[in-house]
Amino acid sequence: MASALVRVGLRENNTPVAVRGQGVYVFDNTGKRYLDGSGGALIVTIGHGVAEIGEAVAAQMKKLSYVFRAHFSNEPAEELAQMLVSEMPVGFSRVLFTSSGSEAVEAAIKAARQYHHERGDHGRHKIISRLDSYHGVTLGAMSATGMHAMKDAGSWRPLQIPVRHINTVRCDDCPFHLKYPSCQTFCATELERAIIEEGPGSVAAFIAEPSRGEEPPPDYWPTIREICDRYGVLLIADEVACGLWRTGRAYCVDHWNIVPDLLTFGKATASGYAPLAGLAMSDKVLDALVNGSGVFLHGHTHSANPMSCAAGLAVQRHVRANGLDRGVAGRGEILDQALRRVVAKHEICVATSGLGLLRQLALRPPRGTNLTIASLVLEALSMRFGLISQYWKAGDRVGFQLAPPYIISDSQILELEERLDRIIPAFAGWLA
Ligand code: PLP
Repeated sequence: MASALVRVGLRENNTPVAVRGQGVYVFDNTGKRYLDGSGGALIVTIGHGVAEIGEAVAAQMKKLSYVFRAHFSNEPAEELAQMLVSEMPVGFSRVLFTSSGSEAVEAAIKAARQYHHERGDHGRHKIISRLDSYHGVTLGAMSATGMHAMKDAGSWRPLQIPVRHINTVRCDDCPFHLKYPSCQTFCATELERAIIEEGPGSVAAFIAEPSRGEEPPPDYWPTIREICDRYGVLLIADEVACGLWRTGRAYCVDHWNIVPDLLTFGKATASGYAPLAGLAMSDKVLDALVNGSGVFLHGHTHSANPMSCAAGLAVQRHVRANGLDRGVAGRGEILDQALRRVVAKHEICVATSGLGLLRQLALRPPRGTNLTIASLVLEALSMRFGLISQYWKAGDRVGFQLAPPYIISDSQILELEERLDRIIPAFAGWLA
């Protein structure tokens, strides 16, 4: 029994205790093996137990374990930043490292507000984001998060920032019951209607994940970019989950060739070997800050922690040296085929979608099912059958969020399929 408070919920007292990880597998203290179908929280890319990462962190610890960001930058932070921006869309040259995605989102929201302020546009303080989105747990990031049940669960309202939520893009389950292309991407133009209703002079930024396993139609993101430009609203691409090759491109926005104004990244940066995330500022935003007050008074004690950056640098080198970045698209196609077979086999499965190794599998339980309970049951069954996954619920669906490490082999994808083939009938049995 775990006594560390890792989770408050139905399973609190029987959370397994993990002791070891190897490749795509995690082992608990009873010796049970779990296939890591979601890279934990969409984070593990190079697999568990890669010795060279530990060696790089140990070497850094011996050389320089800590300096405060206001006094120094440090070598691994500089080298990693160079590596990351070299693959970012044109116009990005600086990054600010944080320890978590929530902190990166906080920094993005603050930078967006400061950008307008520096330019004399003092009224722009609101944020627009999307329903069902996840941007983190700190109060600012949670204000942007569109999973309202989460905010209500802890009675945390009122939250800190005025945020308006628009619908997300879901072509296989359109919230407007429209069909692409005759819908003329109504879900994207909802942003314009929201900006007008809020008052364009009051909106600082629109924040969204380029994909969390949806496949937006080709004109969705270009339309969003255009609307933001038309109303002077900054576009924050939250790539904490989808960035750094997870979807088969260096950054997910590359699928549509759009350039955001602020870009957050996170999970894949250090593949879970250390807490590391960050915010990249476009030159447009940076110049406004530099030419204005000249300061961005924001940072944490552990911003750009040398050991986290050493882990990130070693992970990013490993990814490139082993061609894992270029391999994601092909791995993703094989996973997609497996998930399509799962949909065809089980009546309760209604759709699968995604890009690269960030995919969703949607299940539709009978009308009236409590979807919060259903997703907890799905999770408990997955753990019982030895599959690590993440879960979501939207509309009348619940589903698996799959994001295995980039190293997953063909036979391990088959193994994942076999586990889903056991979990899904058990879930259908629970519902019956
Ligand atoms: N943004 C996105 C898109 C995320 O997926 C997450 C985490 O799941 C976050 C922000 C928050 O990151 P963290 O849990 O590291 O604070």
